[in-house]
Amino acid sequence: EKMSLNDIRSSFLNFFASKNHYVGKSYSLVPENDKSLLLINSGMAPLKPFFMGIDTPPNKRMVTCQKCIRTGDIENVGKTARHGTFFEMLGNFSFGDYFKVESIQWGWEYVTEHLKMPVEKLWVSVYEQDDDAYEIWNKTIGVPAERIVRLGKADNFWEIGLGPCGPCSEIYFDRGEKYGCGHENCKPGCDCDRYVEFWNHVFTQFDKDEQGNYNPLPKPNIDTGMGLERVACIMQGVDSIFEVDTMQQILEGVTTLSNQKYGVSSKSDISIRIITDHIRSVTFMVSDGIMPSNEGRGYVLRRLLRRAAKHGKQLGIQDTFLTALVDRVIAVSGQAYPELIEKQEYIKKVISVEEDRFRETIDQGSEILRGFVEELKQQKKTCLSGENAFKLYDTYGFPIELTKEILEEERIEIDEAGFKEEMEKQRVRARSARQNMEDEGWKEDIFSKLSADIRSTFEGYGNTQTEGKV
Ligand code: ATP
Ligand code: MG
Ligand code: MG
Ligand code: MG
Repeated sequence: EKMSLNDIRSSFLNFFASKNHYVGKSYSLVPENDKSLLLINSGMAPLKPFFMGIDTPPNKRMVTCQKCIRTGDIENVGKTARHGTFFEMLGNFSFGDYFKVESIQWGWEYVTEHLKMPVEKLWVSVYEQDDDAYEIWNKTIGVPAERIVRLGKADNFWEIGLGPCGPCSEIYFDRGEKYGCGHENCKPGCDCDRYVEFWNHVFTQFDKDEQGNYNPLPKPNIDTGMGLERVACIMQGVDSIFEVDTMQQILEGVTTLSNQKYGVSSKSDISIRIITDHIRSVTFMVSDGIMPSNEGRGYVLRRLLRRAAKHGKQLGIQDTFLTALVDRVIAVSGQAYPELIEKQEYIKKVISVEEDRFRETIDQGSEILRGFVEELKQQKKTCLSGENAFKLYDTYGFPIELTKEILEEERIEIDEAGFKEEMEKQRVRARSARQNMEDEGWKEDIFSKLSADIRSTFEGYGNTQTEGKV
């Protein structure tokens, strides 16, 4: 009998409750009193005041399952087996209480005795200079040296600017050669989907000062994060997080509405997965009070929602469809997040209004594009100028992929170089506009990794000419 995602969540919370942890609820996706972050992206993020001693935690040991959004992963969504923009992070935390030994021991106990993952499939990584962690894994736990890798700062050291920081240690599951990239040095830390990183243990033991010194903290902390969808993927033996029991329900909604089969074409599979993911982000964001807008979180919401709608259109869905998927998200997650059920009608209303607005944009853009095509045909030309392609995209918010698709049918090309040139000009204009922004939340540069279509529209923000166009 395979463990469902919802069962895994409660089993994790119960396990750490049995180790005297206070079981906390997920915090909102909207950070409280934290201007450094646009959206909560880890279990630890909302607990920062406890780690920094600004606030007193309910207990020195705590466990949560936290809803998270990582727009920085958007390019991976649909392409890797393991990334979503929305996911749930299981985590146990120690505020100056237990440290490395317990964190590693309990982690191992949970994974091998409760989840019963086969020991020989498990690998671990430690920070290259963290001999303590290496010894614990190797000597105390008994993980053979062949399955412990030492990784550098980029992968296994956690720090954000100054303040508390420290080495990490990750647990990986080897899904076997069929998921590998085939390189001879493919091992944990490789970008492919063979060794899935599922649990990160952060050992916050230093305090980095202005001079760049790493001073030992008198009372080090523990902060761990385990992706619930990833564990479920491993436990259920499915190919990707999109096929775990809960996600599958949403994915099937997408295939039914679009009348597509999953697993037939990689292009439509990517669209199917993107919609499956984005509708979760959108549903949870709206339930936490975020409204579509042209700035900040509202902008992230708007772009994710429209990106989902656009992929739906590309899959051939004619009608509006997002609210039907919202029902599926709530059906599988509502028990764990009762706010979804309480606000179900409200969430659907907000999403349907925005989806309608987007359709108007699409209708208007299609009309204008039809005009361009007519003109080109009359002039016996077969290439749309970069300027016009950009105008459609920038002024009318018409997705460039749709322009391409429609033009392909007419055997017309886009002047790509010209289009890029216009984008670049826009980027420069936006950069100077942005220098005037004071909102601290932007420092994180959360948009830098959004896909090109999303990014350049964002960079128009602050420029009054582009206000209201998305
Ligand atoms: P990866 O290297 O695979 O991108 P990460 O090192 O960025 O993961 P962490 O910041 O260590 O991830 O987060 C802790 C855990 O949260 C990960 O071990 C993973 O299980 C999960 N996780 C991280 N990002 C995602 C995501 N985009 N979608 C689903 N789960 C995620
Ligand atoms: Mg990552
Ligand atoms: Mg990683
Ligand atoms: Mg990690």
